Amino acid sequence: MTVLCSTHTDAKDFINDERLAGWLACARPDKQRVRELLAKSLAKEPLEPEETAALLAASDPDSTEAIFETARRLKREVYGNRIVLFAPLYIGSECVNDCRYCAFRRSNPAAVRRTLTQDEIREQLRALENKGHKRLILVFGEHPRYGPDFIAECVRTVYDFKVGHGEIRRVNINAAPMDHDGYRLVKAAGIGTYQIFQETYHHETYANIHPRGTRKADYLWRLHGVGRAMEAGCDDVGIGALFGLYDWRFEVLGLVSHARYLEESYGVGPHTISFPRLRSACGVETDWPHLVSNDDFKRLIAILRLSVPYTGLILTARERPELRREVMAFGVSQIDAGSRIELGGYTEAGDAQVMEREQFSLGDIRSLDEVLRELLQDGYLPSFCTACYRLGRTGEHFMEFAIPGFIQRYCTPNALATLTEYLVDYASPETRQLGLKAVERELAKQPDSSQKQELRGRLKRIQETDARDLYF
Ligand code: SAM
Ligand code: SF4
Repeated sequence: MTVLCSTHTDAKDFINDERLAGWLACARPDKQRVRELLAKSLAKEPLEPEETAALLAASDPDSTEAIFETARRLKREVYGNRIVLFAPLYIGSECVNDCRYCAFRRSNPAAVRRTLTQDEIREQLRALENKGHKRLILVFGEHPRYGPDFIAECVRTVYDFKVGHGEIRRVNINAAPMDHDGYRLVKAAGIGTYQIFQETYHHETYANIHPRGTRKADYLWRLHGVGRAMEAGCDDVGIGALFGLYDWRFEVLGLVSHARYLEESYGVGPHTISFPRLRSACGVETDWPHLVSNDDFKRLIAILRLSVPYTGLILTARERPELRREVMAFGVSQIDAGSRIELGGYTEAGDAQVMEREQFSLGDIRSLDEVLRELLQDGYLPSFCTACYRLGRTGEHFMEFAIPGFIQRYCTPNALATLTEYLVDYASPETRQLGLKAVERELAKQPDSSQKQELRGRLKRIQETDARDLYF
């Protein structure tokens, strides 16, 4: 593979602030133009950043409703009703950076600094696996202690730890950008997605909130962090922006431009896009001029959905339950649930959050069982599937949506099997009852085939024996 960004000095800066601002200043598109763009999205064609800018400018009530309705339709008709569930596991709060929005920044004396030992990680895993989690994202501050070797060791600890039927089958990481050798090391430990957020794509804002002299101040090193990861063999990457630092519409164009750049340079776009909103955090100022309202947040999710048809969208527990429920319909594909982000929070935290021990506060600390039950009530199919990644079907999101019949052949059966495992092993009686009915309903929708017979047999084995982890 061509090495496009071996060092930041020869890396291309593909974010041109003036160009993005120029697109944003474009005139409001007429209704016909909006209709054409929505039709293009429904045909699963990615939108160009200029086209995304036109949708961002279409803010009249009729266009807004048409954008929401098309995003809902795309979700329903194209992506189906699966929602993949995961949990974050914070490993360490030491950090050499001084990001103004983050409680872990080095100049914050109130933050409790802690790094979990491998034994403490196992204690967290015991709690997570006993709740039914199968997919984790490990999160790290940026610190010499958290080099690639340490990250790889943590990843191996997670894969090796099993309790009863519990096991983590996919470990993703969110950690500071590395060089190629670093990425090779963490890839060899078996990571799924490597995720990193640019925070803001706006250069001046980036410089203001990441003080000079800190590692994170290097915009290009970070911008090309996922590109280097791809060059080193991590072909599954996640990008994101922290909404609230600068104009949300600019950040949407930054994300879409980033996705296009990866697609053009490496032949495959990002697996996921995250769109966290700035939350209150211990020792962090509160008067940010670009905080995003709920209404704008809904628009940004819908427009992202329409712009990047082959990319999964991750909605985190930073958001409150009511809003999570509402925006799910716009095309979200993954959510975290039962999350605690205090260091050691899965065993040590009570009902209330402890601000000094976490990077920011969460909006939704309901249990996995509660969140999953609500998904079932709303007609979604919760999934813990990890099959594609383990069978080497990488670029899975692309295949899911681009290969006819892929969802029906693999994703839905695997969602049904992993959901059944959860229902049998971990669910509350109420969730189990609701879930088993949903499984029957989904199964009935599957066309008759030998695979359907096979699936039926597998679901029965999961219910009646210790057989687990049966995937297509
Ligand atoms: N230290 C690594 C880095 O900066 O890339 C790992 C990421 S950090 C532990 C995870 C993410 O949390 C950050 O990339 C940032 O987007 C987000 N974050 C930081 N402070 C936040 C806040 N106050 N509210 C919401 N999200 C925040
Ligand atoms: Fe450190 Fe990441 Fe927080 Fe910045 S966002 S202070 S790099 S943990």
